[in-house]
Amino acid sequence: MPELPEVETIRRSLMPCIGATISAVDVWQRHLRRPLDPNALRSLAGQRIDCLSRQGKYLIFALSNEQVLLVHFGMSGTLRIAAAEAVKKDHDHLQIVLADGRRLVLNDPRRFGLVWAGRLHDAKEIDRLGPDALSDDFTPEHLHHALRRSGRAIRNVLLDQRVVAGVGNIYANEALFLAGLRPGRRAQRLKRSDATRLYEALRTTLNEAIAAGGSSIADFHDGNGQLGYFQLRFRVYDREGQPCVACGQLIQRVLLTGRSSFFCPRCQR
Ligand SMILES: [Zn+2]
Repeated sequence: MPELPEVETIRRSLMPCIGATISAVDVWQRHLRRPLDPNALRSLAGQRIDCLSRQGKYLIFALSNEQVLLVHFGMSGTLRIAAAEAVKKDHDHLQIVLADGRRLVLNDPRRFGLVWAGRLHDAKEIDRLGPDALSDDFTPEHLHHALRRSGRAIRNVLLDQRVVAGVGNIYANEALFLAGLRPGRRAQRLKRSDATRLYEALRTTLNEAIAAGGSSIADFHDGNGQLGYFQLRFRVYDREGQPCVACGQLIQRVLLTGRSSFFCPRCQR
């Protein structure tokens, strides 16, 4: 599932489209998390792409008419730059045709993605987000404060996009391993020093994954790539029953609100 690093990798791969003008939008398959609105999308024709930013797991294209195009990749989405002559693939939902013939193509086999055009302040999804996990607004104090107020398991607080935007189950588990904290511990019991360690572990984990993803951009543009998805060898995620990379103890799995968490019983307390 695309989390912050994968979305950031996609964002970087799309930077060559900044400054280009949209000449048309073709919707092939409307069915996503919310049905695509072909009229709203077609109205983007004639607009220039001025800027491409990211907030959590959302990509935000800022357009010359002061509207935005918001894209969320759900469980399995990607957006790629395709040459004019490239053929359509299975699960391609829409294409944004640029004036120079290149196309931005959204592919989403599991169809949980979201594509929406409008004014940024009308985008409820963005309004509800907490600070981006790699932004200056996300600080150790912010994390500690959020943890202190919550009776939930730490892992679940990290997944709450209103607390911090961009972290999903994979990188939450990886960061908790680096910080030496068990995913199921009650958040409000964490000390300030624990929260600071967790904050640093999150930043490290996300930045490592972005660095790994960056190396896959060239492959992706050649049409071979998965764009950084699962490029990393995870330290703990999905490694139940395998030896801990630090101490050799077997990694355990626990279900927290229905989703798996993985931890080393010796390294994580
Ligand atoms: Zn261990």
